[in-house]
Amino acid sequence: MNPNSSFRLRLQQLMGRLAGRTQQARWANGAPAFGRVGIDDLGRFLIGVSVVLMVAGLFPVPYVRTVSLVVMVVALLRALSRNHMARGRENRAYLDATVRPRAWFRLLDKRWTNRATTRYPRCPHCRKVFAVPKGKGRIRATCPHCHEQSMHTT
Ligand SMILES: [Zn+2]
Repeated sequence: MNPNSSFRLRLQQLMGRLAGRTQQARWANGAPAFGRVGIDDLGRFLIGVSVVLMVAGLFPVPYVRTVSLVVMVVALLRALSRNHMARGRENRAYLDATVRPRAWFRLLDKRWTNRATTRYPRCPHCRKVFAVPKGKGRIRATCPHCHEQSMHTT
């Protein structure tokens, strides 16, 4: 392989970006995955929704299989898209709209992972969750968010 080829590829990539979409699309033809958006956070979510609906489609629920298929096709078209601006906008809108449920799942995951060593009580003053060591009996803990003290059984 020509030692200059990776440099040339990078130069081509840079020129493609400067020249806009047409140039980018032309050299992307040589490598199908190149230039595509791929599976982003919204893509993973859509595929998940589609799979759940597919399973629900095993039962005689009207339209559920059609909706599952449509969602999967949307996920596929987004993954194959080269319009990074538009897909990135969609992905950010999805992330912004799901901040709270994603934080909840993250906490659930953390709770499970650290279940042997840590408890996650809610602060009675500011309602935020913080970590305390497990197995220390009844302890007084200071909330790292509002610095108020509260009693917790660990
Ligand atoms: Zn607090």
